[in-house]
Order: sequence, then C-alpha cells, then structure tokens
Amino acid sequence: MYIQFRLAIATIAILLSGCVTIPRPEIPLAEPGGSTRQIEKRVRLLEENWSRQARIAGIAQPILTANSDLCGSRVIWDVGVQWITLNDLDDPIDKSAGLEIGVTEYPYVTGVTPGSPAFAAGLRSGDTLRAIDGDSLNKDLWTFERQRTYATTGRNRYRSHLESVVQNASRDGAVSIEYQRESTHYTIELSPIRRCDYNVFVLAYLDLASQISPTQDILISSGLYSYAQSDSDLQSIVAHELAHVLAKHRPRTSTEQHLARGHEMLGQAMIDGMETRNSEVVFSNPTSPRTYGRRLELEADSLAMYLLARAEIEPSKYIDFWKRIPAETPLVHTHVVDKVRTDNLEAAHREIQKKIDAGLPLIPNES
Ligand SMILES: [Zn+2]
Repeated sequence: MYIQFRLAIATIAILLSGCVTIPRPEIPLAEPGGSTRQIEKRVRLLEENWSRQARIAGIAQPILTANSDLCGSRVIWDVGVQWITLNDLDDPIDKSAGLEIGVTEYPYVTGVTPGSPAFAAGLRSGDTLRAIDGDSLNKDLWTFERQRTYATTGRNRYRSHLESVVQNASRDGAVSIEYQRESTHYTIELSPIRRCDYNVFVLAYLDLASQISPTQDILISSGLYSYAQSDSDLQSIVAHELAHVLAKHRPRTSTEQHLARGHEMLGQAMIDGMETRNSEVVFSNPTSPRTYGRRLELEADSLAMYLLARAEIEPSKYIDFWKRIPAETPLVHTHVVDKVRTDNLEAAHREIQKKIDAGLPLIPNES
C-alpha cells in the first residue's frame, strides 16, 4: 500500500508540475511465496473471514431491503455475491494462499449471502464468475492504470466496472450469471433485490466496538461479533449503526482522501478482515468521534427499533441485546443502559406496537 501511495503522490506531483508525460514506472509484481505452514494459516484465516462476511451480509439483508425507501440515492440492486480476484491479494503469502484455494484472475466467489437471489439459484463460494448477461468477463489484469486508479481513489476499476454491469443489467429485473464449478459452466437467471447500499464488515479487533466508516459502511469488531452470537443480536448492532447513518448523526465525509482511505480499508476488510493491518487505527481513529452524545443515542435507539420492525424482526430483541452488554466494556461508555435509555427503548417499543395494531405505517413520530 505504501508503494501505491508514494506512486499516487508522485503521479499527482507530476500532474501538478505540468509534465505532459507520465513515466511508466516498473511495478514489481509480488512473487508468490511463503512457507507451507504460513500459507496454510493464511488459507484458514482468509476462508474464516469470507464465511463471516457472507454470514453478516445475510443477517443484515432483511434490514437493508425492508428499509431501502429510507436510504435515498444510496440503494443498489443486489444479487448477493461477494468475490475477489487474485489481484486483490497483494501480499505474497496471501497470493500463494489464494492460488492454493483456487482464486484466479477471474472473479472468485468468496461468499454468497444466505437468502439472496444468488444463494437461491445455487451459486456457492468457490465458484468462478465467467459471464454476466451473456458477456464474457475479462481477466482482471494488474496494470499501471489499475494501480494508479486504486491508489488515488481507493476503487478498483475492474470491480467498479463489474458492479456497474450488474446494476445496469438489473434494471430490467433480471441478470444472468455464468459461473464455473470445477470444469463445468452453469448459467443462472437472477432477479436482483433492491437494498440500501450500506455494507457491514467485521474487522479483527478484540474490544466490543462498532462504528461507521468514512464511506458510511458499518464496521463491527470481531470481539463484538463473537460476543453477539445470535443473528438477532447482530441485527440489533446493524440497526443501531444504520440508524445513526440515516439520522445523519455523522457529518458527511468531505475529503476525497478520507473516502479513498475508507474504500481501501474496506477492500482490505473484505479480504482478511484487516487481520494483517491494524484495526485499532480504525476503531480509535481520533478524526471519527466514537460518541454521539446522549440525545443522538436515544434517537438512534428509537429509529433502530423501527428499522427492525419494518424488517419484521421483533424489536424487543433489540432491548434484550443492549441490556445484556456487560457494563465494564468500552462500548458501554458510549451506550450505557440506564433508566433513561431503558425508558426510551420501552416507549419506542410501545409506539411501534400501537402502530402495528392500528395498521399504521411504521414511521417514527416527530420528536
Ligand atoms: Zn450509538
């Protein structure tokens, strides 16, 4: 990454100084390597992270689809496939582990969201995508151009292209995907679902913590993920963080640098949960305040319970979860459950129940 940033800075400096030709630097391709043991360990960690990411996507899916009308322009058509190519694995040991698993330059499916259209159609992790809507996919090739756009925007051009292909095809209500499993090719027809375009990532970090990334995606520490255990516990965390985002509790990220850093970070989270990076930097980033203040927390609680109820998830599970968080954890300093919070939670629960009984739309009362 540092090489990429230095490269980006050099490129920008050249552009600013008015130079007309950008020298094409030699970019050393990472040579696969590492001992068998190291590689085995990486295989395990990568697969563990991928299955965790698929699970959390499935857990968040009902909330993100049921509330898509609240997400403004930040909605996408989703088929529920998580994938990477070999070029996403830039560390030599990760590359070797990827090769071991069967990752190639074509999109390798690292996870399929349970309950998604792709899942229902039988796509599974380990499959390789070969065509979308009849157009064969090209290999993702590591080029100077790709390296440069990734370093400056944090976005991988190959990924952006494929995502836009799926979005465009989805407008017709269907998208066909051809995939390869072992040596056989299969084609499936999918009806994409519309959902809020906020993703949930689990990052390697032991404390109980959750927060919003610069890209406004939801980050949950592996400590909190393990503590939460049940699907409804995790849905309570997702709903709470999504409520902060939808209620605009966090100022919009303004600098491109900040966003690029966010995209780069999430790219890494998708691969290994930032296991090789320092997630502590994310959760203790001084530029992103971890506390919103009491009033905003109470507001997030009420809205979160609405988000759950709209997804037909029993909101009382939200109350149970937050009451169970142990009092001595760092998370509790910002999310303390005392009488004020309990009263607020119960009031929101009664308000929602009244609306359900009266057949009224589930929209929070103006406070
Ligand atoms: Zn909060």
